[in-house]
Amino acid sequence: MTNNRHEISDLGEFGLIARIREKFVNTNTSSVFGIGDDAAVIDTGDHYTLIASDMLVEGIHFDLTYTPIQHLGYKSVAVNVSDIAAMNGRCEQITVNIAISNRFSVEAIDALYEGIKAACENYKVDLVGGDTTSSTSGLIVSVTAVGRVAKDKIAYRHGAKENDIICVTGDLGGAFTGLQVLEREKQVFLANPEMQPSLEKYDYIVGRQLKPDARTEIIYDLEEFGVIPTSMIDVSDGLASELLHLSTASKVGVRIYEDKVPIDQLTFETAVEFKLDPITCALNGGEDYELLFTIRKEDQEKLKRHPEVHMIGYVHTRRDENVMISKQGTVVPLTAQGWNHFRPSGSTTANG
Ligand code: ADP
Ligand code: MG
Repeated sequence: MTNNRHEISDLGEFGLIARIREKFVNTNTSSVFGIGDDAAVIDTGDHYTLIASDMLVEGIHFDLTYTPIQHLGYKSVAVNVSDIAAMNGRCEQITVNIAISNRFSVEAIDALYEGIKAACENYKVDLVGGDTTSSTSGLIVSVTAVGRVAKDKIAYRHGAKENDIICVTGDLGGAFTGLQVLEREKQVFLANPEMQPSLEKYDYIVGRQLKPDARTEIIYDLEEFGVIPTSMIDVSDGLASELLHLSTASKVGVRIYEDKVPIDQLTFETAVEFKLDPITCALNGGEDYELLFTIRKEDQEKLKRHPEVHMIGYVHTRRDENVMISKQGTVVPLTAQGWNHFRPSGSTTANG
């Protein structure tokens, strides 16, 4: 026994990544940007090549009691395409690594690859390789995505500047509330297997959880409208966490407005049904795979009428002041863990 052991849970995921990052320096001039953004950036001549990798682990990231395995295949590609999009890039190839236990049949793996194929067709991406191995328990799917971006169009997490406008696409909190519905139906089913889940009413948010889509069309729209984001990240861990990533990387502060944060009606109603605060679901729920980016004030007009782009706040220079102005006008610090995590459940909703 040694008392030199430190728990990973004390460091957290981001602390652990920072610790790994400290140990390495890039030696090749082609390695333009390594650890610390949505994708690595490699200089490959007239453009940058982007590489992103994301792993989905059974029991951690998905539960096959309510996840159709073809949806899992689709999602494993979508989340990687999303990371390439978050650099203002387009994904062109993926490789797929799978570890499978003998619990899975050939038909199950066929279904997994049906989903992977559907995503490849949708995003116009080629599956060009991978690795197959066994696992003692459960399924692991790890996808690596390769994409490209013109050198003068790349969007890092670190480019946000004072007075830039903060934009987010689509709507937030849906994937998290969808997960609450799926977990509840699972418990109902476990208690009484005769009961059939009633999910129709929740179609949109359950779909947001099980079959997320990368916002690749936004990358095309930005190009068409002549806008290069000054910084960008995709929303995998929740709006608050991603805003803090942009703020830290860009050495700026952010200020957003609760009433500008896009929350779909069904998401709102379902959050209330579960005695959750809708804005907390949007800030801390995660897995929405929307794009969060900043633009120069001069570009605001160009995107103003885009139905999927919402301007939620602005960038300022006070690095430690990352806040949301609530609907009541109070200043709420943004934290990655949830700004009102410990509020007694059911005490209030975002609208009081
Ligand atoms: P995202 O949520 O966009 O997928 P992550 O938070 O997973 O990003 O990763 C942040 C950064 O850390 C990325 O640049 C990623 O490549 C890097 N990273 C994550 N895990 C490791 C690891 N085990 N070794 C090296 N780099 C890592
Ligand atoms: Mg990302």
